[in-house]
Amino acid sequence: MVDLKGQYQKIKNEIDDSLREVFDTTAFIRGPKVKEFETALASYLGVKKVIACANGTDALQVALMALELKPGDEIITSDFTFIATVEVIALLGLKPVLIDVDINTFNIEAHAIENVITDRTKAIIPVHLFGQCSNMEKIMSIAQKYNLYVIEDNAQALGTEYIFSTGNNRVKSGTIGDIGCTSFFPSKNLGCYGDGGALFTNNDELAERISSLVNHGMTMQYYHDFVGINSRLDSVQAAILLIKLKYLDNYCKERQKAAAYYNRKFSGHPKLIIPAGSSFSSHVFHQYTLRFIDVDRQKLMEYLKSKGIPTAIYYPVPLHLQNAYKYLNYTEGDFPVTEALCKTIISLPMHTELDEEQLEYITTNILNFADNY
Ligand SMILES: *Cc1c(COP(=O)(O)O)cnc(C)c1O
Repeated sequence: MVDLKGQYQKIKNEIDDSLREVFDTTAFIRGPKVKEFETALASYLGVKKVIACANGTDALQVALMALELKPGDEIITSDFTFIATVEVIALLGLKPVLIDVDINTFNIEAHAIENVITDRTKAIIPVHLFGQCSNMEKIMSIAQKYNLYVIEDNAQALGTEYIFSTGNNRVKSGTIGDIGCTSFFPSKNLGCYGDGGALFTNNDELAERISSLVNHGMTMQYYHDFVGINSRLDSVQAAILLIKLKYLDNYCKERQKAAAYYNRKFSGHPKLIIPAGSSFSSHVFHQYTLRFIDVDRQKLMEYLKSKGIPTAIYYPVPLHLQNAYKYLNYTEGDFPVTEALCKTIISLPMHTELDEEQLEYITTNILNFADNY
């Protein structure tokens, strides 16, 4: 699904040099590379503060911890996302309140948010799934009206731009809500060579609390003002990310190029629905996800596998039907769009190293199956 080796080969010298610096200085934890990376990412995103942490899941958890919520407080998020989004809500003793998604963009159905707001609702976590922003203007206006926090799960959309409806104004995704969270898992848009994550915010007070929370709630050495966790980005990962950040926009362009090729080949086919864009977001195609009509998905995946083409289902089970979250008392039929998507989607190989020959091979085989089986 990704070609991390090919990507590394192209920047091997730069990466190796940056790593050698870390090894030579042996500043492995909270070293200068981490600070340097936080500053570079803040400048790329156009935000005041970036706080690096150990992974994207921790970023989401710390974001919620920074809001000083009470057990039982309700957090609204999407039913169609990676488990981490809802997991951290549950772990902190908060209550996940799920919402169905838009059939075209796969993102949270913003217009449905108001229906589930109660006096316990404290925050909304829109997930910018597959590389495209949720409807942030709508979400921010609801948040303002009901005095709610907004935490953006930007793990799949780093590098994406949100386009405001007025004034030709664009900002990087994840920078509109109170806190943005991202992941540097190797296959993400900006991936390190292990685990990594970050939080970003324009709120100085939140930034300070977040910095403390990721380091045991420490404000001064061995003085702890909050119950925190140990969640640090190590210098080795920061050294890699510092190099790769320079290429992030190029990486996004490569993904967009591959997606454009897929779209050209698939659009208009009666059995295939290509991923839809929206007027308020660019799309960096963290995933390229097709919907199939009247095609046996299992057989298609097996057929492609026999041709050496990997595919994946992100995600096969809606959150509300996962065993771990049965206690929320949702049932089949509660979120029909997510349920339908989970049964009909397939994600194709999508990364920065796809060449025309590979794309042609993949698309030819998919069209062959769709037309003949
Ligand atoms: C990857 C991902 C996360 C978690 O990031 P990790 O670094 O793997 O912990 C959270 N939310 C979404 C939407 C993701 O895709």
